Amino acid sequence: MSKVNEYLEELTSNILLNNDMYKIPADIIKIAKVNDIDVYEGDLDKKVSGAIKYDKNTHKFAILLNKNDIRTRQRFTLAHELGHFFLHKEILKDDEIHIDTMFRMPDEKEKEVDYFAGALLMNKTLLEKMYQNNKTIAELAELFDVSVSAMTVRLDILGLL
Ligand SMILES: [Zn+2]
Repeated sequence: MSKVNEYLEELTSNILLNNDMYKIPADIIKIAKVNDIDVYEGDLDKKVSGAIKYDKNTHKFAILLNKNDIRTRQRFTLAHELGHFFLHKEILKDDEIHIDTMFRMPDEKEKEVDYFAGALLMNKTLLEKMYQNNKTIAELAELFDVSVSAMTVRLDILGLL
């Protein structure tokens, strides 16, 4: 595991532990609330999964999700936008809005944020513990309230496949 990924594992674990959120499935709406971030759903274009916006007047962050997306996709998007909040807060304050689309170019920042999202939704220690109980990937995905493909990627990263 790279230094960056180790840092992201530790950061996401701490976020969960610090606010009594170290449980399955991760309550990421609560993580947004604790950090004073408003979460909205909007009728967005199919290509757009979500966005995070900084309001220069209120100094508050808001996350927008596509209401047409299925629940597990919305959860991943919310975790992804939270990653931008925790990792790139200062950049967001200058840019004011960051929009994520399905066909975006995967630059380093986006890859980092996707890693953050996977680690936040599927905490390493909790997942390894559940994995011991001979559960299928589909059962694990349901438990953690994520898609089967997100769970597969995460298990692969953790060397559990
Ligand atoms: Zn993004």
